Amino acid sequence: MKKRQQTIKRVIWVEVKYGDDLLKTISTACLENNIKSGFITVIGALQKAKFGYYSQKEKRYRENSIKEPLEIISGLGNVSIKDGKPFVHLHISLADKKGNVFGGHLNEGCIVFAAECAIFELEGDKLKRKFDELTGLSLWDFSQ
Ligand code: ZN
Repeated sequence: MKKRQQTIKRVIWVEVKYGDDLLKTISTACLENNIKSGFITVIGALQKAKFGYYSQKEKRYRENSIKEPLEIISGLGNVSIKDGKPFVHLHISLADKKGNVFGGHLNEGCIVFAAECAIFELEGDKLKRKFDELTGLSLWDFSQ
């Protein structure tokens, strides 16, 4: 089994404000801080949400949209290099007012009510994405 090895370099606490687009804000924070590899956590609340579900059969994302206030129960993701640039990949679990939980692949269009986000920047082996024919996704390339 091939592996990549990295260590934590620093932790960036990202200022995420009311009305921000969550994915755009995290992506901008990675660019501004020159973060090419790391993992990301986020909790908080959204005013509305858009998130994806990858259809393995169709090899494409379908989008779910919820236009009501939601809790961010858990947001977990990473940043790695795709097409030479930092690429944020984050999945999110959300709860409605009854506590029903759903979630998926974070898309643009998740408008923040309040959020607490940390990016753990990593250093060491590079982690790059490459298109994978079998899944139709850009996956980590462990062959380099
Ligand atoms: Zn995803």
